Amino acid sequence: MTKKGDLLYAWTTDAGIREKAELGGAVTALWKYALASKTVDAVLAVTKGVDLYDAKPVIITDPDDLAKTAGSLHCGTLLLPKLIKKYLGGSKHTRIGVTVKGCDAMAFYELAKRRQLDLDRIIMIGVNCGGSVNPVTARTMIAEKYGIDPNTVYREEIDKGQFIIGYTGGHKGISVDELEEAGFGRRPNCRRCTMKIPRQADLACGNWGVIGSRAGKATFVEVCSEKGAALLDGAVKTGILATEAPDPKGIGIRAKIEDAMLRLGQMWRRRDFEGLGEGRDRLQVIMKETSRCIKCYQCISQCPICYCVDCSTKNPVYVPPGELPVSFMFHLIRFAHIADSCVNCGQCEDVCPMEIPNSLFMHAQHVELEKMFGYVPGVDRELPPHAFVEERAERARLANTGSDMIYENVFNPLPR
Ligand code: FAD
Ligand code: SF4
Ligand code: SF4
Ligand code: SF4
Ligand code: SF4
Repeated sequence: MTKKGDLLYAWTTDAGIREKAELGGAVTALWKYALASKTVDAVLAVTKGVDLYDAKPVIITDPDDLAKTAGSLHCGTLLLPKLIKKYLGGSKHTRIGVTVKGCDAMAFYELAKRRQLDLDRIIMIGVNCGGSVNPVTARTMIAEKYGIDPNTVYREEIDKGQFIIGYTGGHKGISVDELEEAGFGRRPNCRRCTMKIPRQADLACGNWGVIGSRAGKATFVEVCSEKGAALLDGAVKTGILATEAPDPKGIGIRAKIEDAMLRLGQMWRRRDFEGLGEGRDRLQVIMKETSRCIKCYQCISQCPICYCVDCSTKNPVYVPPGELPVSFMFHLIRFAHIADSCVNCGQCEDVCPMEIPNSLFMHAQHVELEKMFGYVPGVDRELPPHAFVEERAERARLANTGSDMIYENVFNPLPR
């Protein structure tokens, strides 16, 4: 019997999955077992769309359809939890299995604290994550740094610090460090990320530490919950998953790589945040950059911390409608509401049509708040400093007091 804390190598015996899988297909095999055994009603995973720059979320209910979700898409920058909130009723009536990167796992926890999701009905299989590449950046990078037509690329992988592509006529790898010095490589938020092995998930899977004859053919699994242990045991029992104890040297290598990645993340934080300056200088940089904003609301729509029925940025008292440049109050509201809980997922930056480094600004503020209040978002069920207030309940409470104190006092000041 497997238990929380166990470490093992795992791979599938299902030839169809193994052929498409990244590293032995343990993740996809676990999902196949979860669906077949009715442990979950549906699996939310990621699959290739028109090409490898186009990662699509997909809901699978037939175990035989799972093979198409196998493989790692390093240009897949989707964040999955908000899709469950928006389109799957917050998992309140469906048991869902979902493959998560570290930022997905963190967003799950933050949404669950805000009662937008039911974590008890969700199983998370985490994948270790060194980072993902913005698909638009990937195309430019492949054309400019590799000198290859991005449309001819049919395969990509990140291995031993290199971003490697397979294209019609050959393959080529360039070190991620070199790519990043040239302004390409992983997304800026990924460089600063320190959630490399998502232990908040039920299982954490990756290639770090798989050595010897299993290298490239198995996944290193860390069992992070009893739910994860039960899933794994069930899959092994049906024969779709095989496991063995990891090489002790591999365990040490995995720990060393994780440590090196964490130090790299801290280095990028220092570099990015120092680049923003401090105090008044930092404020001026943020005001200048955000003055390009066209108030398309995409950053709010994608942010896992934003879920309000009635967003304050749409209140004309705060943000006058129809004005460009948009009042800085729009961004101040976002900073005030989100900075304590930002999980640095990068979504607000990825989707911004004006290329405003929103994630950098929010993350820089978050780390200061984290130092002040000690609140680390996305790792457990602890509430944030801006403790959760259910918006509808708060409105009802205000209505029941007979007056909406905030607006009445502003527009009809009470007699002194
Ligand atoms: P498979 O059976 O092939 O299943 C892969 C699962 O990942 C599927 O459920 C698929 O839908 C999902 N998936 C694919 N792309 C994405 C995506 N972009 N976002 C969310 N889910 C996705 N392991 C390491 O040890 N070190 C790393 O640095 C590392 N970086 C990674 C970066 C990314 C962006 C991803 C997606 C994975 C990374 N991994 C890393 C994990 C590793 O590549 C394998 O996913 C893992 O070992 C499981 O292998 P498997 O054969 O069991 O998975
Ligand atoms: Fe991976 Fe972290 Fe980037 Fe998310 S933010 S894709 S977990 S490196
Ligand atoms: Fe993610 Fe941006 Fe929201 Fe932070 S502010 S959680 S980086 S979308
Ligand atoms: Fe996000 Fe604040 Fe709007 Fe809510 S009110 S959606 S937290 S910006
Ligand atoms: Fe403004 Fe960009 Fe947010 Fe759109 S996504 S509202 S342009 S900051």
